[in-house]
Amino acid sequence: MTALATTTNGRVATLDGFGADRDFRHTGRLSIDFALTGGEGPEFAPQERLHTPEDLNVWLAWSQLAVVAPLATDQDHLAARQLRWAIWHACEAVLTDTLPHDRDRGIIDAYAAQPALVPQLFGEPWVSPSIPQALSTIARDAIELLRDPFLRGRLRRCASPDCGVPFVDVSRPGQRRWCEDQRCGDRARQKAFRDRKRRAVKPRKHVAFSTHDASQIPQDPGVPSR
Ligand SMILES: [Zn+2]
Repeated sequence: MTALATTTNGRVATLDGFGADRDFRHTGRLSIDFALTGGEGPEFAPQERLHTPEDLNVWLAWSQLAVVAPLATDQDHLAARQLRWAIWHACEAVLTDTLPHDRDRGIIDAYAAQPALVPQLFGEPWVSPSIPQALSTIARDAIELLRDPFLRGRLRRCASPDCGVPFVDVSRPGQRRWCEDQRCGDRARQKAFRDRKRRAVKPRKHVAFSTHDASQIPQDPGVPSR
């Protein structure tokens, strides 16, 4: 169960390590991280991380937005899942060199058109944040990602054969291979290490005498052989 606490200003904070035990993904891009919290259908439902409205609060507090907002409603939860699915499909479309579907573009645009989070210089990062505002900010992040030619061109898939999730490579050389270096990168390095170790262990030559091969039995020098 999600550990939540209501602060003095009526907003909700998480107490469970900000998603550390929830396998939230951190690729470095807000809208992609959000899209990776789960999905619909038999392929994606097992990856679901936002089972309840409270889970949405936990993710938002854990995310780079660090939003501590009032407890999400069921409607917020449904809205989040709808936006998440649209972002996922739009990213997949770009990755396959096709235009995002009108339906997905419409959903992302509609959320982006709502008032977004309002930042402030001191104190908490946002002025009276709400869940709908957070969803709008996420939708705007997706639009920036999918409109900007550089960012769109840097949308990649993780090179790990058992991963393949999208990420944005904003590194100068543009040679990033993994969604998360400490996840798939570490796994790849560990596998490479094991493979090198396996190759370095050469099979040992069998040198034991065979009891059936008389020619290998040392002869007694005192007995002339015939
Ligand atoms: Zn990966």
